[in-house]
Amino acid sequence: MRRNRPTKILATLGPASNDKQTIRALVQAGADLFRLNFSHGRHEEHAARHRIIRELEEELDTPIGILVDLQGPKIRIGTFANAPVTLKRGQTFTLDRDPSPGNEQRVCLPHPEVFEAVKPGHRLLLDDGRIRLVVRRVSPERLETEVETEARLSDRKGINLPGTVLNLSALSSKDRQDLAFALDLGVDWVALSFVQRPEDMAEARRLVAGRAALMAKIEKPSAVSQLEGILELSDAIMIARGDLGVELPVEEVPAIQKRLINTARLAGKPVVVATQMLESMISSPFPTRAEVSDVATAVYDGADAIMLSAESAAGAYPVEAVSMMDRIAVQSFRDPKFATFMNAGATPLEATSADAITAAARQVAETISANVIATYSTSGSTTMRASRERPNTPILGLSPNRDTARRLTLAWGVHCALTDDPQNFGEMVARACHTARELGYAVPGDKIVITAGVPFGTPGATNILRIAWIRPPEE
Ligand code: PEP
Repeated sequence: MRRNRPTKILATLGPASNDKQTIRALVQAGADLFRLNFSHGRHEEHAARHRIIRELEEELDTPIGILVDLQGPKIRIGTFANAPVTLKRGQTFTLDRDPSPGNEQRVCLPHPEVFEAVKPGHRLLLDDGRIRLVVRRVSPERLETEVETEARLSDRKGINLPGTVLNLSALSSKDRQDLAFALDLGVDWVALSFVQRPEDMAEARRLVAGRAALMAKIEKPSAVSQLEGILELSDAIMIARGDLGVELPVEEVPAIQKRLINTARLAGKPVVVATQMLESMISSPFPTRAEVSDVATAVYDGADAIMLSAESAAGAYPVEAVSMMDRIAVQSFRDPKFATFMNAGATPLEATSADAITAAARQVAETISANVIATYSTSGSTTMRASRERPNTPILGLSPNRDTARRLTLAWGVHCALTDDPQNFGEMVARACHTARELGYAVPGDKIVITAGVPFGTPGATNILRIAWIRPPEE
């Protein structure tokens, strides 16, 4: 399962990728971790996918991460007596709290918190931004809006409220049930949708209680403007360009993507670029040139992971889409200018021994042309700091902790392997050399660089840097 690229591939599973044979093919084509999207599908379906991934992990002898994506507090209108209705440009359309079926003049909006937060002048975007309404008058029971674009509107369409911060928990009651179910299954990452502010992450953190790592999906303008606070309470972020491109002018998304990648890299937290990366491959075996360029841009910008949504979950070519992403990422990485482009911005070190040792390890590995930097890390934090350095040398993350190994499948440049903590220096060197050789990173005569902490097995104690030579296996 050795990959020839540092950027990870996160593939969403769905009806097109439910069976073991397809999921195995996705791993073999390059998927490093999988997303279970709880906006769709029943619990039993997600549990079946989870079971298959864990079986494949054993069979293929490699950690495979599982990320659960919670739907979040999606705001939807009610239903119409005769759907769809046609809204004319310039007409008044009212959203109210009357549960009776709607018509061309009104529809129910069963979310009281929207009536409390919306102000005249705010925009409501319906059906993925296809329908735009401007709020003209607000009362506790009614929102009178003006229709900006002529459109047809059908039952239960979603609403985005870009300029409005809602007094809503980031976890709906469905999310809370889904979260409890996912944590009982044993997932590695939980992604929170429509995060608005740092407090949303704090609430999720209390509920997750360390049983999984936490990812904030950045898809609201308020999350973009409070990124630092959100990042502090998250273990990773996802640039959810689908909703971001509805909530903000779509032409602003590329600059935001670059800024978010940069900020997450500086913080040493993984960042995923998501949505429409190879969209045309839902129905075509080949991507457009623009999509190829989009995937490569995320790779060159140093994103930790690139994501497939419907391409792998519901498309006609799930394996081909993963394989194409793999080829684009490998080819970009092979560019002699890759490191120059990717490291255009500086990543200053923090005054900690983990940063000092990992920066030195990178320097030593490059100076002596070592094949691998092996990091012993129980919690994974030292391995994450090594990943933050974006070294030219692959990182071998050695951990006795299965959960750590699975979570690190998201991290740039890291290949994780399960090993017990060494008891002494001899064991530390022997284990790292053996694993590097077994996984095909090094052959006898090659050099590797090892970082670890003494006393061995103490989390956060990284203080050792060692160079080792791979010896031939003993007869
Ligand atoms: C997005 O909006 O880009 C996204 C990833 O979220 P979802 O697909 O869950 O709507």
